[in-house]
Amino acid sequence: MINADFHIHSKYSGGTSSNMELPIIAKQAELKGLDLVGTGDAIHTGWREHIKSNFTEISEGIYKIKNSGKTKFIITTEVEDEKRVHHVILFPSVVSAENLYEIFKKYSTDIDKDGRPHLRLGAEEIVDFSREVSAMVGPAHAFTPWTSLYKSYDSIRDCYGDNLKHIHFLELGLSADSDMADLIPELSGITFMTNSDCHSPWPHRLGREFNRLNIKNSFSFSDIRDSIINHKFALNVGLNPLEGKYHLTACSRCFLKFKPVDASGIKWRCPECGGIIKRGVDTRINELAKLKKPGHPGHRPPYIHIIPLAEVISLSMKIRTLTSKKIQEKWNTLVEHFGTEINVLIDSDVEDIKKIDPKIGVIIDKFRNGRIKYIAGGGGAYGRPTLDANEKDRFWGFGQRGLNEF
Ligand SMILES: [Zn+2]
Ligand SMILES: [Zn+2]
Repeated sequence: MINADFHIHSKYSGGTSSNMELPIIAKQAELKGLDLVGTGDAIHTGWREHIKSNFTEISEGIYKIKNSGKTKFIITTEVEDEKRVHHVILFPSVVSAENLYEIFKKYSTDIDKDGRPHLRLGAEEIVDFSREVSAMVGPAHAFTPWTSLYKSYDSIRDCYGDNLKHIHFLELGLSADSDMADLIPELSGITFMTNSDCHSPWPHRLGREFNRLNIKNSFSFSDIRDSIINHKFALNVGLNPLEGKYHLTACSRCFLKFKPVDASGIKWRCPECGGIIKRGVDTRINELAKLKKPGHPGHRPPYIHIIPLAEVISLSMKIRTLTSKKIQEKWNTLVEHFGTEINVLIDSDVEDIKKIDPKIGVIIDKFRNGRIKYIAGGGGAYGRPTLDANEKDRFWGFGQRGLNEF
């Protein structure tokens, strides 16, 4: 079994940390417990040069940092099409990414500026060109309200047309999970991916969502391709969708939440601050849903909800800043003892965690059993877990509401 995060961004994408360099990412991935990480941004020339000078190929299409570490890498990127839909692309080699860069640069003005370039191409054409270089394509964060498949279309076929037959994966994004997405029957033949889409290497970002694949030890790109096409993912792992930035319908300026029917009644303008109200992923999926209950196809793996370890520690210590020194110290103690963060979160025995820190053991036991409450995210602000069952959220027209009252 390997843990894989296929979608991250380099320091060349907008709004990313200058620490998004391969040696740092490799080291942090090892501590997190990721075996395989997508490079992101592979059609950016500067990042590709960084990839070439750091990597050695260990099997067909799979790379490692020269002479160091265990983390394996696959070449990936994200692009934005002319309808502002984002797509993840997985490449069989660096050369393949280089060849796609040569094709795409005719259709982009920012391909050498932004790690995630904008292309004057439709989704169907992006699939055609990607297939020319033997790369795989699928929608990124498919339900988010700014730049996604279901923001721009009501059906995946409307987006990819006849090329839908070449779409084998769909990234759920932080605000959705399999239970939500499997309300939409047209997705039943597609493998769901859970990736971090992270912009910094902090362990509550890198691998905050990941996939567990059942794959042979010395895997190559074609084994990855095979496990996507033939549905061999063993687990999807990610945040509770309530933690996603766009889970509920909310104002994108002041983050006040709205009932969907109220938002449309006031034309998606926030009466408190004048900001634009963004339709939540929860709202959007309810509009698209054809089923009342999730219709999981037989191949769909379980979806495990996790809370990043730094966030668990923050709850136990009542410190809000996840990057604070005290939280890091506790994080180091736990990861040194259990080997990786992922071991702590999902694979270790809770009793062993309790021996090191009883409070943290109790919280991990709670979230493993689905007994944690959340203040939901929306409008671009992340949600968060809370141990205070009486903590209230803010909804327009309803003042302070208890958790889960909608
Ligand atoms: Zn994106
Ligand atoms: Zn507002």
